[in-house]
Amino acid sequence: MNSRNEALFQRAQRSIPGGVNSPVRAFRSVGGTPRFIERAEGARVWDADGKVYIDYVGSWGPAITGHAHPAIVEAVRAAALKGLSFGAPTESEVEMAELICALLPSVDMVRLVSSGTEATMSAIRLARGFTGRDAIVKFEGCYHGHADSLLVKAGSGLLTFGNPSSGGVPADFARHTIVLDYNDLQQVEDAFKARGAEIAAVIVEPVAGNMNLVKPQPGFLEGLRRICTQYGAVLIFDEVMTGFRVGPQGVQGLYGITPDLTTLGKVIGGGMPVGAFGGRREIMEKIAPLGAVYQAGTLSGSPVAVAAGLASLQLTRAPGFYDTLAARTQRLATGLSAAAAEAGVSFSADAVGGMFGVYFAAKAPASLADVMAADTARFNRFFHAMLEAGHYFAPSAFEAGFVSAAHGEAEIDATVAAARKVFATLG
Ligand code: PMP
Repeated sequence: MNSRNEALFQRAQRSIPGGVNSPVRAFRSVGGTPRFIERAEGARVWDADGKVYIDYVGSWGPAITGHAHPAIVEAVRAAALKGLSFGAPTESEVEMAELICALLPSVDMVRLVSSGTEATMSAIRLARGFTGRDAIVKFEGCYHGHADSLLVKAGSGLLTFGNPSSGGVPADFARHTIVLDYNDLQQVEDAFKARGAEIAAVIVEPVAGNMNLVKPQPGFLEGLRRICTQYGAVLIFDEVMTGFRVGPQGVQGLYGITPDLTTLGKVIGGGMPVGAFGGRREIMEKIAPLGAVYQAGTLSGSPVAVAAGLASLQLTRAPGFYDTLAARTQRLATGLSAAAAEAGVSFSADAVGGMFGVYFAAKAPASLADVMAADTARFNRFFHAMLEAGHYFAPSAFEAGFVSAAHGEAEIDATVAAARKVFATLG
């Protein structure tokens, strides 16, 4: 065994469950040995064997400016020199809050936390506290972090109680979560007709990125807005992945829809642990110390993490940033589709801003069922052949991919050229 990746993986498994600190990193769905990353810069990552890859994971979204951007690293260094954490308010977190409020018209007030999970968990509690209702609606295939009431799958009938999708989640918690099919507005209508007075919130990934990439069908998000308004439920856009990723105002800006609450993460931390939830003032004022809904965090608003996040957001405000990012991402999707077509492989690719999906199916999916019907075995062969060739895609057919501002046309074209050779072997 000469591979350091393999040796590290063996070693890691003795002291860390599965050898990883977050399950998707373990390569379970594609098989093989995870790459242990030693360093990253721009569009590239280097593994423990010294092999370099063009990276389309980007730390699962945060690395929108490319890895180790000098302005972000410098901001972190400068902040760290002034002290790592105080447990007291700072000017930089006020700046961050003001910037988020200025960039997202739906957000009057915002609170910073340390992860996407914390953001969604807190937003759900706040929605429940604000409405005085217990039930929530989520959609199968959307991931909102690992809070108990969000690790729930559909029950036997759509309007029946949800079931835990993880061990350790009490059925009593899961029964407050109604799980419906993404893009099926009729189901939402039916659920509200049956139980509207009990439903505190609808939480949705407005472009789904956790069942591969699935776009909302025309009218779906507008319908959610209308129904939530009609029944007095809180509409939560979980933009942890899409926020400042698909465009300067996230999905809400792309589609012109105003959610009541928005959750953020990833890009707003620039690679450091930052999450946020924010929205309408009258709802946000229910949070402690102003209101009765409790939420707190020792490291919330960490000055070092906030410095990284501010620098990251500032970089995305450069003129043309999102146009270029979207064009590069589209170039990848179009290039991969054309290469697959040449080889006669049933394949499609789709992109929104700096996010993309690749599917071993004739057309882009509109539902979790479509995603499940794609050829996963073929994806796995594609994944490994691309990895071997030095192109690092998400190690699962059920994840979206990410392009950064450091991915130039040369990187994209190199990846498409490699894929052309790989597709020829997949026929
Ligand atoms: N919501 C969405 C839409 C996400 O994609 C994720 C993470 N991939 C989360 C919430 C949870 O964020 P975190 O992993 O930072 O807890």
